[in-house]
Amino acid sequence: MIGIGYDVHRLAEGESLVLGGVTIDSSMGSVAHSDGDVVLHALCDALLGAAGLGDIGEHFPDTDPRWKNAPSRMFVEHAIALLSQHGYSPVNIDITLILEAPKIKPYKDAMRNEIASMTGLPVQRISIKATTNEMIGFAGRKEGVAALCACMIKSGDNA
Ligand code: MG
Repeated sequence: MIGIGYDVHRLAEGESLVLGGVTIDSSMGSVAHSDGDVVLHALCDALLGAAGLGDIGEHFPDTDPRWKNAPSRMFVEHAIALLSQHGYSPVNIDITLILEAPKIKPYKDAMRNEIASMTGLPVQRISIKATTNEMIGFAGRKEGVAALCACMIKSGDNA
């Protein structure tokens, strides 16, 4: 089965920017109830979507104080546990990050390692790509950061 996920957070000066579980050196960061990690939020929705298990908002409502400033790793680990309970495991994960700045290349391997550690997948099965938005739209104006994720899941354990 395949799932897709998409997430956006607004950017503001002075906030921290966490993407794929990695803190990025940036003057602007996500405005969010949690750590605002759009990569992990899109990943969560892709995992849940592949298994037909709803979305991140159903499992982690932003009205619940338990998730205030929660590290998004918790959401991914919970999604993986839910999949496991239903007999599924991830096969591969492909992520596209959309932001104007800073350059993400220096952080890609760290993100892949983080995602490997929370999903149990080998890093070779995790892809992180990044693009600017050509200075147009909300991402292009640095008003927000967005991420897309596709993932495949299968029945049974990792192989
Ligand atoms: Mg989000």
